[in-house]
Amino acid sequence: MIPIRYLAPLGLLLVVPVLTACNKAPQEYEDTQLIFGTLVETTLYDVDETTAEHAFTALREDFEYLHFIWHPWQPGPLARTNELLALGAEFSVNPSVLPVIERSRELSPASGYLYNPAIGKLLDLWGFHSDDLPKGPPPDAQAITALVEQNPTVDDIEIHGIRLKSTNPAVKLDVGAMAKGLAIDWELAELKDMGISNAVINAGGDLKVLGRHGDRPWRVGIRDPRAPGVLATVDVQDGESVFTSGDYERYYEYQGKRYHHILDPRTGYPADKSQSVTVIHPDAAVADAAATALFVAGPDEWYAIAKKMDLHYVLLIDAQGRIHMNPAMAERLRFLQPHETILLSEPL
Ligand code: ADP
Ligand code: MG
Repeated sequence: MIPIRYLAPLGLLLVVPVLTACNKAPQEYEDTQLIFGTLVETTLYDVDETTAEHAFTALREDFEYLHFIWHPWQPGPLARTNELLALGAEFSVNPSVLPVIERSRELSPASGYLYNPAIGKLLDLWGFHSDDLPKGPPPDAQAITALVEQNPTVDDIEIHGIRLKSTNPAVKLDVGAMAKGLAIDWELAELKDMGISNAVINAGGDLKVLGRHGDRPWRVGIRDPRAPGVLATVDVQDGESVFTSGDYERYYEYQGKRYHHILDPRTGYPADKSQSVTVIHPDAAVADAAATALFVAGPDEWYAIAKKMDLHYVLLIDAQGRIHMNPAMAERLRFLQPHETILLSEPL
């Protein structure tokens, strides 16, 4: 998703990482930071400059810290945790990573394990644990099957206080499908604690809002997965987050086929039933994990998982470009162009 009013200056923001007062509205401040491989934009509305400066400093420090502790392949607490999990013996974990592990253990079973943060070894095998995109060919089919058969899940991790142990040597944690959500939840709460009532934290289109933008709600655009620009817009209410998973974020093509970064843990291959999934939910960690899980689920299975996760707003574009939604989501979205196939599910 891309907040509409940012579409044009997105490139510019990359080179203006300093505190900037926007000329559009009074007392509006923006800050951008490259974190989690994404440009994170924070917009504060109706605040004074001192508060904005203070808030941006705090957020920058926090995001950098979270980026460090959760990084899936660079040395740090999560990478160290993975080394120790692989040994199979009990160890004292760096407590900084406990909250994200706990949250993953709650959300993965809720998603029918389609959000599965224990498949780090599969992601390694596909070459996605690198700053550069893999070039192909895809990995050896037997190596993929071998990892899938070991069936690593968060349930294989035993936790007693800060003591951890994995009963399955195939477990390797990658919290990338939920980390942005959890981080945004925490940072938006921090802004609220600072007395800020109107704000957006937007990590490359995944976002959460506080309050309103003056006399109207924050309005964001949902990206078209196959064309540049916006598919639909939605007004986001106070405390809501909007998260999208798509096959266009990180992918490579090999012999005309697209291989992207969201894997179906049941097959070990990139999930091929969806182009993108958008979830609106008050809890950004839920929205993030759910968007990934429903992307894997695809048009036939998304509804059951959405029910299980207690979601109320889902949009799924399937591999054929057909649009699937629940009726409440359909009521909220404003499509920029008419669409031939819109399939409404039962209410969620
Ligand atoms: P993005 O980070 O692009 O917004 P997602 O939230 O869908 O997209 O997260 C995708 C990331 O999650 C991948 O880059 C990978 O690190 C990890 N991942 C891939 N497939 C799964 C899965 N089925 N369950 C959990 N994590 C996954
Ligand atoms: Mg996600």
